[in-house]
Amino acid sequence: MTRRSKSPAKKPAKTQVLRTISALRAWAARARAKDETVALVPTMGALHAGHLGLVRLAKRKASRVVVSIFVNPAQFAPNEDFSSYPRTWGADLAALSQLKVDAIWAPSVATMYPEGFAIRIEPGGPAVAGLEDKFRPHFFGGVCTVVAKLLLQVTPDFATFGEKDYQQLKVVTAMARDLDLPTEIVGLPTVREKDGLAMSSRNAYLSADERATAPTLHRVLKECAVQIKERRPMVDVLAVGRAKIEREGFVVDYLEARHAETLVPITDLKNGPIRLLVAARLGRTRLIDNVGV
Ligand code: AMP
Repeated sequence: MTRRSKSPAKKPAKTQVLRTISALRAWAARARAKDETVALVPTMGALHAGHLGLVRLAKRKASRVVVSIFVNPAQFAPNEDFSSYPRTWGADLAALSQLKVDAIWAPSVATMYPEGFAIRIEPGGPAVAGLEDKFRPHFFGGVCTVVAKLLLQVTPDFATFGEKDYQQLKVVTAMARDLDLPTEIVGLPTVREKDGLAMSSRNAYLSADERATAPTLHRVLKECAVQIKERRPMVDVLAVGRAKIEREGFVVDYLEARHAETLVPITDLKNGPIRLLVAARLGRTRLIDNVGV
């Protein structure tokens, strides 16, 4: 039997589920009144080890952690997978409780976007780099609008984001800086399956055959990175890499070398640091990945 303390402060606190903005604000105010630091982990649920890595990072940064779970309609185009996006509330709650997350912020769509909602953030800079934005033009406006709302609702000291969505990490970092938001954006390296596939809630869409093919993306990115470091001509390296990916049955949206901070196109190793970024469709599933050179 575990020893119980009489002091309420020492009881292992249960993960609280917050569903209204007033409950969230009260939770954050209580933390601040006790001089606690707060980290926010924004997610769309369907949690996997990548998300749990963000939670662990958040716990190292701050004394209180709140994880938001909200499938944000504003970042999906009408032809995208908003309604079929995986929703696994029971498993998410169990995983976050096990990690002793302090609170889950789980607003409804009506709470986040009440009738008459009319404001949308229009990010520039890394959000118009010609990568994800070229294929999902609505995406970063939707992401910035919801992340700005989350950051203003919680006003955390830290918010953690994955390098898996590398352009998104740069966009959110630029937004926090440009809007003077009092939150430090902290990145986490991509968490991968044993075979190199970047973990993603959308991997659940892959058939068994597609799942076997999917690690090609990371394998080719790594090969390209090695060859670029060996000073082979970058244009050729990327063209061969693209062909290899296509040969496996992917439809490639982009495979590009960009400056790791500004995301501007880069053709020479000496203008780095370089990040290689790829997006490709396998059947009905769109996968993205990236590596540093
Ligand atoms: P999502 O729920 O897909 O919107 O992702 C929520 C957060 O988890 C974002 O900051 C993602 O970049 C991050 N994330 C998703 N997959 C991974 C992964 N494999 N490794 C690290 N972070 C990830």
